[in-house]
Amino acid sequence: MTRNALTLNFDETENQVMIAQMVRDFGAREIKPNIMTWDEAQEFPLQLFKKMGELGLMGVLIPQEFGGAGFGYLEYVTAISEISKIDGSIGLSMAAHNSLCSNHILQFGSKEQKQKYLPKLATAEWLGAWGLTEPNTGSDAGNMKTVARKDGEYYVLNGAKNFITHGKSGNVAVVITRTGDVGDSHGMSAFILEKGTSGFSSGKKENKLGMRASETAELIFTDCRIHKSQMLGNEGDGFIQSMKVLDGGRISIAALSLGIAMGAYEAALQYSKERQQFNQAISKFQGIAFKLADMATKIEAAKLLTFRAADMKNRGLDVNKESAMAKLYASEVAVETANEGVQIFGGYGFIKDFPAEKYYRDAKLCTIGEGTSEIQKLVISRSILK
Ligand SMILES: Cc1cc2nc3c(=O)[nH]c(=O)nc-3n(C[C@H](O)[C@H](O)[C@H](O)COP(=O)(O)OP(=O)(O)OC[C@H]3O[C@@H](n4cnc5c(N)ncnc54)[C@H](O)[C@@H]3O)c2cc1C
Repeated sequence: MTRNALTLNFDETENQVMIAQMVRDFGAREIKPNIMTWDEAQEFPLQLFKKMGELGLMGVLIPQEFGGAGFGYLEYVTAISEISKIDGSIGLSMAAHNSLCSNHILQFGSKEQKQKYLPKLATAEWLGAWGLTEPNTGSDAGNMKTVARKDGEYYVLNGAKNFITHGKSGNVAVVITRTGDVGDSHGMSAFILEKGTSGFSSGKKENKLGMRASETAELIFTDCRIHKSQMLGNEGDGFIQSMKVLDGGRISIAALSLGIAMGAYEAALQYSKERQQFNQAISKFQGIAFKLADMATKIEAAKLLTFRAADMKNRGLDVNKESAMAKLYASEVAVETANEGVQIFGGYGFIKDFPAEKYYRDAKLCTIGEGTSEIQKLVISRSILK
């Protein structure tokens, strides 16, 4: 038996059951009544995240010594998928805060950096952002142009990051910059930047197809001077750190995808039993029943891949391939399920009085963010061909 073999234990932990119920109650009270208001106005509900912070949802993986909930990846996947079943944009923001910004500091920060930032991030007193993508370098992030030039005890940053979740509202951002040659994977370094630092500002907020309650905006650096103590790890470690952070982050996007798929499926299942055509519920037509069977089967498969990656991550195993597989499969299932969901709703799937159209719009981000489906295939194929 190999060390990374699947542990065949499908029981939910007591913590998972407790978290799922807590998130459902919270979502019914605080999110459901506002979903379409936030979506239509593209409003980022900052106060909601403060309340989520009080429940431990903004510091799920942060150890208790730094003020977090101190849970593992099984509980984390449960929390993100339950939130995303209700509203994918809240799930996306929760994932970016927890597994990108906070987790980068948790994994690679010094003791002082952890003590300074993690307690504030764990309670959402401070909201976190994470900047890797630039206008000209998304999939090809290693070719980034944002530069941090060394100047004595300081680094001077110039450039811009785009498509950054919490680019405007984030109080603290982990930013990856070039400190060496283009094309050198050891030529990049990560820094922690605080809002209000001179030369650090935010730019355009994007107007998006879906995930509209999650804020996506530019970060701009103009002669932004920061002390070298803000660097995470050593000079030249930034890109390698980012790839490791993304290995964990992709589990959260798989969980986000799973939640959207479950939400779209459950809405379509219920509707198919209620909607009558030709004097019977449309669920009685084999054409509809088979769609539901495919949706349910693919969701179960996505769940297994996602929880397997989470379980391996908990056990400290390398999840590079498994998190990419989970993210690739679950995100494509989210898109397929949301698409079939709209089809089952018919014309009512195309209007905003019913939930199907929002799942359809939100799902598409899952095949793009934190590495497109094509990039996941690149990661998987590199791993199996090495
Ligand atoms: C809502 C939202 C939130 C985001 N949040 C963040 C964030 O918080 N932080 C952050 O750093 N980034 C964030 N991103 C950026 C996101 O990670 C990138 O959009 C994504 O990695 C793709 O990069 P790109 O958009 O530049 O597409 P490109 O890299 O230009 O890709 C365009 C197309 O080419 C394909 N392609 C590229 N290279 C290859 C290849 N080698 N082989 C085959 N096909 C290829 C891609 O798969 C895609 O289909 C966010 C994006 C969105 C939309």
